[in-house]
Amino acid sequence: MVATNASGMRAVKYGATRDYVLGLEVVLADGSVIHVGTNTIKNSSGYQLERLFVGSEGTLGIITEVTLKVAPKPKRSAMVLAAFDRLEDAGKCVSNLISVPLIPSATELMDDICIRAVNKAVKAGLPDVEAICMIEVDGEPDMVAKELKVVEEVARRSGASSVQVSDDSKQMAKWTSARKSVMSALSRLGDELVSVSLADDMAVPISKIPEAVVAFHRIAEENNVIVGTYGHAADGNLHTKMLLDPCSEDSWTRGERAVGQIFDAVISLGGTVTGEHGVGMSKAPYMMRERPDAWRTMLAIKKALDPQDILNPGKLMQWEGGIIRDLRYPCRDLCPR
Ligand SMILES: Cc1cc2nc3c(=O)[nH]c(=O)nc-3n(C[C@H](O)[C@H](O)[C@H](O)COP(=O)(O)OP(=O)(O)OC[C@H]3O[C@@H](n4cnc5c(N)ncnc54)[C@H](O)[C@@H]3O)c2cc1C
Repeated sequence: MVATNASGMRAVKYGATRDYVLGLEVVLADGSVIHVGTNTIKNSSGYQLERLFVGSEGTLGIITEVTLKVAPKPKRSAMVLAAFDRLEDAGKCVSNLISVPLIPSATELMDDICIRAVNKAVKAGLPDVEAICMIEVDGEPDMVAKELKVVEEVARRSGASSVQVSDDSKQMAKWTSARKSVMSALSRLGDELVSVSLADDMAVPISKIPEAVVAFHRIAEENNVIVGTYGHAADGNLHTKMLLDPCSEDSWTRGERAVGQIFDAVISLGGTVTGEHGVGMSKAPYMMRERPDAWRTMLAIKKALDPQDILNPGKLMQWEGGIIRDLRYPCRDLCPR
């Protein structure tokens, strides 16, 4: 988690792994052991190397010890499930939420393809609409009650066709479980199709969420591929899964073209190709597009710390392959050759 700066649905309020790392012990490429960061909340003592190692994906050193700060557990939480007849309105709801004085602990957006998939696979009973937002607030009980009212008002003002509110733990667990089953449910949506993670972890500025979700759907339509969009929208993080015919070269070609267009759209909106999963190989070509000036500095840091290129070589800005040509997708192995 530290090496990828991982995070999840509550990052909007609680941040990503990097926000909790105070210090690290790291083994460098030459075998020396260094300690970076401090045990203090504040630290202006030179370069913040702990922040550099978080998210470096094993390319700069091996992390052997982590000092974390912790946050108190909230006393109460509650959720709003808002249904929208237009995907764009769900996106607007997310961006409207940032203009009111509260920070939701989670805001999960799901489009119609994801809704259909979970309703079919796990009988989730979600509203049959173009998009939903599940918005969670947490904290002190009286604050939660006040914030719920604000969220409900924002959802209605953004065009929600129905709004359900719950602080019942069973109901909330049911909604959360429906959201968490999106990935596996998408794999079961189309008989001949498999769900693949190609452009799966973009993040855009929150105000650009409506444009981004509409762009993804347009790109899917233009390339004749099915794309399900969901994600931790209030921190701008949008996941997509593409449904492809694993045995059709044409399907993979259209998928790859759509991936490039999705990433280009994200970059043009001021976003990033990966919000929480990391770059590895599959997002390397697109990270170079996203960071045309910064990747050389990243490479210089890599060369300074690992001159013989022994730490996770060939990743990030060092990978130059093609995502379909050079990466293995196990679902293709079963196809007749
Ligand atoms: C189904 C699925 C769901 C996912 N959901 C999420 C999600 O909700 N949020 C999220 O953030 N990510 C998610 N991911 C992406 C990824 O799994 C996470 O980022 C995860 O944190 C990786 O951690 P890991 O311990 O499995 O690391 P690994 O997969 O083992 O490694 C990840 C990278 O870190 C490097 N690394 C591992 N250990 C060290 C070390 N000690 N020192 C230095 N480098 C090291 C590896 O070389 C590699 O480059 C998901 C992935 C999958 C497949």
